[in-house]
Amino acid sequence: MARQTVVAGNWKMNLDRKAATALAEAVAAQRSLVPGVELVLCPPSLYLGPVGNALQLTGDSSPSGVWLGAQNMHDEQRGAFTGEIAPPMLIDMGCRYVILGHSERRTLFHETDDRVNKKTKAAHAIGLTPIVCVGETLEERERGQTQTVVTEQIQHSLNDISAEHLKATVIAYEPVWAIGTGKVATPDQAQEVHALIRSLVASMASPEVSQSVTIQYGGSVKPDNAGALASQPDIDGALVGGASLKADDFLGIAQAFNT
Ligand code: PEP
Repeated sequence: MARQTVVAGNWKMNLDRKAATALAEAVAAQRSLVPGVELVLCPPSLYLGPVGNALQLTGDSSPSGVWLGAQNMHDEQRGAFTGEIAPPMLIDMGCRYVILGHSERRTLFHETDDRVNKKTKAAHAIGLTPIVCVGETLEERERGQTQTVVTEQIQHSLNDISAEHLKATVIAYEPVWAIGTGKVATPDQAQEVHALIRSLVASMASPEVSQSVTIQYGGSVKPDNAGALASQPDIDGALVGGASLKADDFLGIAQAFNT
């Protein structure tokens, strides 16, 4: 079954307004190079508006063919949550995607699987596609706990989500030891965990759902290592941090997945 290939750029807390819009324009200008890939840009939330304008987003359409995503959100619709951003606000700004449970959110901001689960449900309830991140630390890998840790994260973060919504979820496998370190997982290491995730989705929903769910790899993906990752049967795209800050590198990665 053909799966949607998704390459998303997580800009994290980088760039200023001018640089963010210039980067979005540069990606949009070369978007036609990768017709088989869904491209998503996830700027800091303050720049969702300017970047959305640079992508010419109108309502539900993106004439540039590049989609907007947020890096996080709250799970409530509104209310007394100082400093937080609600799901309807992301829709209002033209977002189609939202990254949830990134390891930096889990580690630095103490986000639990339970919170990620609430956010995932809130995203689906409003029509946002969640990119749900999971992945083990170096210590966990060295202790031989990768499969247990990822299984727990998947089962809890995606608990009680309908088959229809699971199908519309993007899962990102991001080994924590590979994020921002320059140490990419080998294609075999990544494939092994992607196959595990797909089998977990099969048992939580159905083999059909598992075959259609997009599973991205993230962690030090660069244009020169993306091809080997893209050639693995269960790797359907990439969540890209550092390399997404340069249009050519980001598009070079997308080209590797544009098969
Ligand atoms: C990320 O933060 O999701 C990520 C994968 O970062 P990097 O590509 O820089 O490792």
